[in-house]
Amino acid sequence: MDFDDTEEEAAFRAEARAWLEVNAPAKGSPDDFSTGMLEGTMDPAEYLRRVKEWQRLLVDAGWAGITWPKAYGGRGGTSLQSSIFSQEASRFGVATNTFAVGIGMAGPTIMRHGTDEQKDRYLPPMLRGDEVWCQLFSEPDAGSDLANISTRAIRDGDEWVVTGQKVWTSGAHEAQWGILLARTDPDVPKHKGITYFLVDMATPGFEIRPLKQMTGSEHFSEVFMDEVRVPHANILGEVNGGWACTLTTLANERGLIAGANKSSDSVALIALARQRGRADDPNLRQQLVDCWIRQQIQRYLGYRLQTALSKGVPPGPETSVMKLFAAEYLRRLGNAAMEMLGPEALVLDDSNPAGVDWQQRFLYAPAIRIAGGSNEVQRNIMAERVLGLPGEIRTDRDVAFRDIPKGGA
Ligand SMILES: Cc1cc2nc3c(=O)[nH]c(=O)nc-3n(C[C@H](O)[C@H](O)[C@H](O)COP(=O)(O)OP(=O)(O)OC[C@H]3O[C@@H](n4cnc5c(N)ncnc54)[C@H](O)[C@@H]3O)c2cc1C
Repeated sequence: MDFDDTEEEAAFRAEARAWLEVNAPAKGSPDDFSTGMLEGTMDPAEYLRRVKEWQRLLVDAGWAGITWPKAYGGRGGTSLQSSIFSQEASRFGVATNTFAVGIGMAGPTIMRHGTDEQKDRYLPPMLRGDEVWCQLFSEPDAGSDLANISTRAIRDGDEWVVTGQKVWTSGAHEAQWGILLARTDPDVPKHKGITYFLVDMATPGFEIRPLKQMTGSEHFSEVFMDEVRVPHANILGEVNGGWACTLTTLANERGLIAGANKSSDSVALIALARQRGRADDPNLRQQLVDCWIRQQIQRYLGYRLQTALSKGVPPGPETSVMKLFAAEYLRRLGNAAMEMLGPEALVLDDSNPAGVDWQQRFLYAPAIRIAGGSNEVQRNIMAERVLGLPGEIRTDRDVAFRDIPKGGA
């Protein structure tokens, strides 16, 4: 594992830092919008405006899509440069998570499986943040077992007619485009009859019903589709070959979630403990040290991934280890914060910014255990791919989707 930047990497880091110092708001300054996703910290419309403005600035200065080809507005750089820039940007009051599904997941999938026309049409506005994307994968009966989707798409000339229901769709109400999985052949085993569509969210037949989370925000929605017409040209990859594209999206999603959690900082919580005169409390000290150690381990796991990337090795099951570790770290961090703040943690108003911030982190932590593949599913991946334990018994692998017994049937 390499801990130090090479000369070239150090020069890149210095250039990134210098640019950010001039162009990005400082953490904690009035212009800081890095916690804007959290309820009570910023109006969602204002957050969207700021995040889009920041994305355009990044594109114009050559700091967006660092690994993307220049032809689509990117920098044509390396994964390592991209992760160096993210590390530096995380020190400032900025965010780009509105574009995670587009730039982080749909973009790489279109680059790998799309036609030239699709790449030219979708990638540049995606990178500029002009078109926001959402992921229409999960359904009430298809989450961990994603290939179990039952949303149907039936061909009608040059169009496909899509009917069904999705759930947990992050940012659906803000998205102009969606990546959608639908069943196009129920007579073959479940993984073999799925097609991957690029859908315009303004098409008649979509109904988006936001779901209120315990954080108070409406981060995701139920999405109903009633005979939504999608042009044949909007299929990514092959008809019934959508699973290959799906695997590309999911691998990128896991890497994204695993890498995104460095910002929740145990050091900030330690500073708060000192400020509140609680740094001598023996129970709290135990918890804070535990969080600090976990944050360091998380950092070293990140270095390992970064070293692999710099050697051109694609990320493997280590993203599952990182994702699982991040979920547990954030749970413990949130618990420690709540214990320290006590009754103050119950107050959600602008006069108590520290309370709001930590309360939100505490309430959001369980979501990380589920999103992008639950903790149990990550453990299954590690058991099978790292430890070489026997795989789960999958009785429906060679059965036509139509013949798989369904709940309530
Ligand atoms: C914050 C957040 C954002 C999300 N955003 C999106 C989005 O934008 N688009 C989208 O499509 N989806 C999204 N999801 C959905 C997410 O991918 C699913 O919630 C996740 O895959 C789990 O599926 P499920 O909720 O259906 O749970 P289930 O699959 O029904 O699982 C229920 C429980 O059973 C356990 N379990 C299931 N299978 C196994 C197994 N084989 N072995 C052991 N235990 C098992 C699970 O771990 C879990 O505890 C989001 C979820 C969250 C929390």
